[in-house]
Amino acid sequence: MNPTNPPSPSGTARTVRTRPARPRTVLVSGASIAGPALAYWLTRRGCAVTVVEKAGALRSGGYPIDVRGTALEVVRRMGVLPRLRDAHIALRRLTFLDAHGGEVAAVAPHALSGGTDGDLEVPRGDLTRALYEAVRDDVEFLFRDSIDTIDTIGTSETGETSDSTDPSGPGVDVTFRGGATRTFDLVIGADGLHSRTRGLIFGPKEQFHRYLGYCFAGFTMRNTLGLAHEAVLWNTPGRCAALYAPGDGDEVHALLTFARRTPPPGAFRDPQASRELVAEVFADAGWEVPGMLSALYGADDLFCDTVSQIRMPRWSSGRVALVGDAAYAPSFLTGQGSSLALVGAYMLADCLAGRDHTAGFAAYEQATRTFVTLNQDLVGEGDAALFPITADALERRNAMLRGLSALPPTEAQPAHSALTLPAAAGPEVGLVVGPGV
Ligand SMILES: Cc1cc2nc3c(=O)[nH]c(=O)nc-3n(C[C@H](O)[C@H](O)[C@H](O)COP(=O)(O)OP(=O)(O)OC[C@H]3O[C@@H](n4cnc5c(N)ncnc54)[C@H](O)[C@@H]3O)c2cc1C
Repeated sequence: MNPTNPPSPSGTARTVRTRPARPRTVLVSGASIAGPALAYWLTRRGCAVTVVEKAGALRSGGYPIDVRGTALEVVRRMGVLPRLRDAHIALRRLTFLDAHGGEVAAVAPHALSGGTDGDLEVPRGDLTRALYEAVRDDVEFLFRDSIDTIDTIGTSETGETSDSTDPSGPGVDVTFRGGATRTFDLVIGADGLHSRTRGLIFGPKEQFHRYLGYCFAGFTMRNTLGLAHEAVLWNTPGRCAALYAPGDGDEVHALLTFARRTPPPGAFRDPQASRELVAEVFADAGWEVPGMLSALYGADDLFCDTVSQIRMPRWSSGRVALVGDAAYAPSFLTGQGSSLALVGAYMLADCLAGRDHTAGFAAYEQATRTFVTLNQDLVGEGDAALFPITADALERRNAMLRGLSALPPTEAQPAHSALTLPAAAGPEVGLVVGPGV
């Protein structure tokens, strides 16, 4: 007897239509850190993943970033740890200068960050490329495109879906800027601090942005000081000019950070206005700052933004969820943005495995939120150790640094490892989409 055609109560065979098993389809917006990491773990669990990235290609450049604590286990399980170890920047020291360029203290990098010797610091482009290459053969990548509209079929205005009780709930209709329209089972926003996915589903970003009281301008410039494997930071109250030399090459990363009670109007939408604002803030600064300002005007990779966190009461609504900076950017002051993105991606894929999306998204939040909050709480408004705002705070910070340089490296920061990953799962059996997944 055909098991799909059981006898009806009247004894005649009736046809029961079953849906052919198919993989769960997931659209991920953003191909930086969270996006490819999530794509990797979702494909390992049987999903068919499409990643859409608004840039024309993988963004290869960028400043050095940390991978620490629990995130190291994520990249180890992805098989990219050896490659990242090769790319590791062994920074030798951080040198802090006073207003006149005199040395205040020189300390080991870990003394401030609470990191350990096993931690990684890699050029951002090396990390994104390693993640992308780990997954590119298994995932559909759509570069130079982005989500235009999302229609969450079966989702009420409160964000509740009917699909766990209504098996016919078909999914999410997505229109792309490029003109295509497609339907996915799930859509995940991994599109960063200014996430469009978040805006489309949760509304204006202002309600989730927590401005930390600083703005910054980042760019590359010539290594005129001959710096090698080190960073130098010049501070006055509320201002910091930093030069970061990951190696001994001809270029360094420059970062000009300044305190500001409220974000500038238009928050850096206009590059020329951004340059002028930064130049005005640092107009009377000493040390190498005049040269940095000249370089700022000539830089073709200038990146200005506010220093902000994203704090959301929920990371999902219906069939759409957020991961990485889009959901919980901790700000570069914590040095934990990439690590949260990697851990969040792993946890989201793990929690979705074998669950419908409502249960999976709930499990993701439940398992990950404490870790996220502990790391976001590493910095508060206006209290970044690298950027003291008042003269008193700067003096206290400098006294602390002078003490640090005489001490052995500090203990690892517990927040970095405050989540233990669930056991690595193989391909999911039964991770096929039937009704209601
Ligand atoms: C100057 C600076 C220094 C930093 N230093 C550190 C550090 O030392 N350690 C650390 O851990 N973190 C650091 N960070 C933070 C870190 O870069 C982020 O936390 C991390 O990159 C988050 O990864 P993500 O994948 O969630 O988002 P992002 O890296 O922001 O990636 C978002 C991706 O989505 C794409 N995208 C955006 N909008 C759309 C759209 N509408 N459609 C399609 N694609 C879109 C973008 O092009 C990008 O590729 C620093 C950040 C800055 C700015």
